[in-house]
Amino acid sequence: MQYPFIEVDIKKIKHNAKVVTDICKKHGVNPVGVTKVSSGSIELAQAMIDGGIDTLGDSKLDNLEKFKDLPAKKMLLRLPAISEAKKLVEFADISLNSEIKTIEAISKEAVKLGKTHEIVLMIDVGDLREGIFYENKDTIMETVDHILTLDGVKLVGIGTNLTCYGAIIPSKENVGQLVDIKKEIEEKFNIELELISGGNSSSLCLIQHEELPEGVNQMRLGTSIILGLVEVTWTMIPDTYNDAFKLKAEIVEIQEKPSMPIGEVAMDAFRNVPTFEDKGMMKRAICAIGKQDCDPQFMLPDDENICILGSSSDHLILDITNSDRDYEIGDILSFTLDYVAILRCMTSPYVERVYI
Ligand SMILES: *Cc1c(COP(=O)(O)O)cnc(C)c1O
Repeated sequence: MQYPFIEVDIKKIKHNAKVVTDICKKHGVNPVGVTKVSSGSIELAQAMIDGGIDTLGDSKLDNLEKFKDLPAKKMLLRLPAISEAKKLVEFADISLNSEIKTIEAISKEAVKLGKTHEIVLMIDVGDLREGIFYENKDTIMETVDHILTLDGVKLVGIGTNLTCYGAIIPSKENVGQLVDIKKEIEEKFNIELELISGGNSSSLCLIQHEELPEGVNQMRLGTSIILGLVEVTWTMIPDTYNDAFKLKAEIVEIQEKPSMPIGEVAMDAFRNVPTFEDKGMMKRAICAIGKQDCDPQFMLPDDENICILGSSSDHLILDITNSDRDYEIGDILSFTLDYVAILRCMTSPYVERVYI
């Protein structure tokens, strides 16, 4: 076996997907299974499908391309670039959009390929990432008007995203804006929109608080399926797993050393001036993994008596003084990963993927 590797428990992902899907369906919401943490893992996408997901969402077309043979609808989450319009039409059925020039480019490519690409028009209700600002009603209506004249694209609904840049909490009021805007569009243009895409995992707080505005019928869910977590309320969804992803790394050094570095302090390898607490002599271990391939801030040793002290690009430094186990060189440490660490590990070509 070669280390480090990330162990992905497919059964746990499938289970989480099923639990989350059931909750959503009970509230009239169809969940999009967001795979972007996995760098295009077909196994993970398939686990979501097996759990009841019918649409996969990813931020990168390269990942959706890997999923091309999976039996699910494919959604591009990050606004498409004009330069990738052709690839978008090839590998995604639906995308989130806010720019008419891009939608025109999509239209052209879709017509060429004889396809119809579905458009969700993004409205920014306050988080200040993507979308037309909700108060700019003229821009919204002009954009809709223009989309309706284009061939090869179909406006299927509107959507929003929250708690990503501005860290704004989804509420009856801000997500509710979408319900009003949808109604205005439908009346003004005498059309029906099938979709209100009400946000990411953070929007599950609206279901938790029984405040979901009537008409919101889609959510795009990554973290809640991957970790069973609703970050905005910092709650676990009952009956889900938060440990489907484990990092296994090998110990390459164990030495008795002080807790305080010796000598004059400059900047560390990441341009920080480090500070240290004097805890006397320690038994310290080094694992062969570092910031290039994981994120030590977002991982927890499964041996609760071990403490992560820090890391550089390829070294993870741990305090193993208080562990009950007598570790030796070559032993493997296991870590439970939070979202950012999963993202790093799954993206790194140096971390093997093992599916169980
Ligand atoms: C990442 C992303 C999601 C999923 O976010 P989670 O918090 O992981 O559920 C949904 N929509 C968009 C537009 C995203 O970028």
